[in-house]
Amino acid sequence: MKTIGKICLGTAAMFALAGCSRGFSAAERETIRSGEGEIMRVLTVNDRSDSLTLRRKSAPMAEGMERADDYETLRRRMLATVRDPENTGVGIAAPQVGILRRMIAVQRFDKPGEPFEIYLNPEIVEYSAETAPGREGCLSIPGFYGDVKRAQQITLRYRDEQFAERTERISGFTAVIFQHETDHLDGIFYTDRMEGELLQKE
Ligand SMILES: [Zn+2]
Repeated sequence: MKTIGKICLGTAAMFALAGCSRGFSAAERETIRSGEGEIMRVLTVNDRSDSLTLRRKSAPMAEGMERADDYETLRRRMLATVRDPENTGVGIAAPQVGILRRMIAVQRFDKPGEPFEIYLNPEIVEYSAETAPGREGCLSIPGFYGDVKRAQQITLRYRDEQFAERTERISGFTAVIFQHETDHLDGIFYTDRMEGELLQKE
């Protein structure tokens, strides 16, 4: 028994050193590295297995994952994917590239230069009562768009890329993107919130 105890302790220490308990799983790492080039395959509702994945709830990012080996690759590839000149978006959520983790990229139209930024464990803690309808589309629902009524102001709580906790008040179109992308982390599509008809792109 004494020996077993020692072995377990040794294994635990090894895991702690390697950061295994804080990293991505083997399956996640395989997805992060999969395919050729920087652009990742976007999961879409046109594929049955993809749509089941997209409907799942994503797990939180654990502290330390932002320093894990594959994190840099994932963030870089998510940004390349949302900026794909052939299929450009204004935001993307990790589950859309097959990683069921609470991580999103959003284009900050409210900042100079309109940069894409990464948010970990984003959570909308307050929605303004004031709403407005706006046109939305989604990389995972190709060829369609529709009108969704969204809060015009939100308060977002999240972890930045150093895993520091932050809170920010965001308004306008950028606030709509945050609402759309955080919905993906809970398996929700804009079509679930749409009031009118789903329209087909010309
Ligand atoms: Zn979407």
